[in-house]
Amino acid sequence: MRPFSFSKTENAAKAVAYKKDQAQFIAGGTNLVDLMKKHIAQPEALIDITGSLSNKIESTVQGIRIGAMVRNSALATDSKILSQYPLIAKAVLAGASPQIRNMASTGGNLLQRTRCPYFYDITSPCNKRKPGSGCSALKGENRMSAVVGYSDQCVAVHPSDLCVALAALDASVNITGQKQQKAAIAFKDFHRLPGDQPHLDNTLPVNALITSIDIAANPFYKNCAYVKLRDRDSYAFALVSVAAALHLKDNKIIDARLASGGVAHKPWRWYAAEAYLKGKEANTENFEKAATIALEGLKPLSGNTFKLPMLKGVIETALQSCLSVNRLI
Ligand SMILES: Cc1cc2nc3c(=O)[nH]c(=O)nc-3n(C[C@H](O)[C@H](O)[C@H](O)COP(=O)(O)OP(=O)(O)OC[C@H]3O[C@@H](n4cnc5c(N)ncnc54)[C@H](O)[C@@H]3O)c2cc1C
Ligand code: SF4
Repeated sequence: MRPFSFSKTENAAKAVAYKKDQAQFIAGGTNLVDLMKKHIAQPEALIDITGSLSNKIESTVQGIRIGAMVRNSALATDSKILSQYPLIAKAVLAGASPQIRNMASTGGNLLQRTRCPYFYDITSPCNKRKPGSGCSALKGENRMSAVVGYSDQCVAVHPSDLCVALAALDASVNITGQKQQKAAIAFKDFHRLPGDQPHLDNTLPVNALITSIDIAANPFYKNCAYVKLRDRDSYAFALVSVAAALHLKDNKIIDARLASGGVAHKPWRWYAAEAYLKGKEANTENFEKAATIALEGLKPLSGNTFKLPMLKGVIETALQSCLSVNRLI
């Protein structure tokens, strides 16, 4: 590991003022330290932001604000989250392990890097790690890779479970920039598709800090589900996952949200399937049709055609699970 300096700041303003291009913020460190050990991230300086950002979950006029330093375990067990935004807790609990969730922060979860094996192997070409070097996964081992929204520069998927639920609930990300300017980025615009700049995962300005996440109050808490398929039952990233949420009146769908992980470079919303569901009866036939619509136009790679039938099944299961008693998981 390359030598680095380490400092702690006590508030967001000082943290951003202190940040230089070769420095990195560190929160829980569950992704960054691994990247440093593997020589993928080589910061000259680490700025510990654990004391700089809120670790509180607060009710607001519009909904709820989650401080960027709220640990994943605290997020998944908070009473306001469990009663009003249970989709968030379901997604968080489907990820990582209890030990990692105890360390991982909300802000860091949004910024974790892809789990593409070539990204972690510094002997392999990888445009995300080394722009212009090529994409080893495009014609190589791409079983875990994307089926939509990719480019010939990068076919990686975003690994977060929490982000799939945040995408479904149209969250927004509050940031503070280096000149102390504050801004909110709509969640749908926060993560990027790879295009010809796959080294850029998101639209967070250079040296800016995520301070909190907002979710507007919504009616989806009664009927929502997060279903994740993976190679083993825990401690594994999604092959495909689906966050589903329905606003029902009697059995009619007033509004629907469907988002997936494991399919694209960013959490992916199935807007056409959502539009189909609105105004329909909540039943197996309509769920099956919505899943078929979601699959239209997907382009699997050589090693992941299996993801299409898997995704169809997971979308149907997630929608069906929205009708069950809303228990956790
Ligand atoms: C073995 C293993 C299994 C895992 N399984 C899953 C899984 O199944 N599902 C899942 O969703 N996740 C999984 N994770 C990932 C884990 O959730 C993330 O590593 C974690 O959420 C990152 O949070 P952190 O606070 O530790 O981030 P850090 O490692 O501290 O930081 C990550 C990045 O974010 C930056 N950063 C952190 N906070 C801020 C901020 N507030 N503002 C600006 N920049 C910031 C850092 O500079 C760094 O670049 C797994 C991790 C491991 C190690
Ligand atoms: S898919 Fe992306 S992360 Fe993986 S090798 Fe290709 S460029 Fe690198």
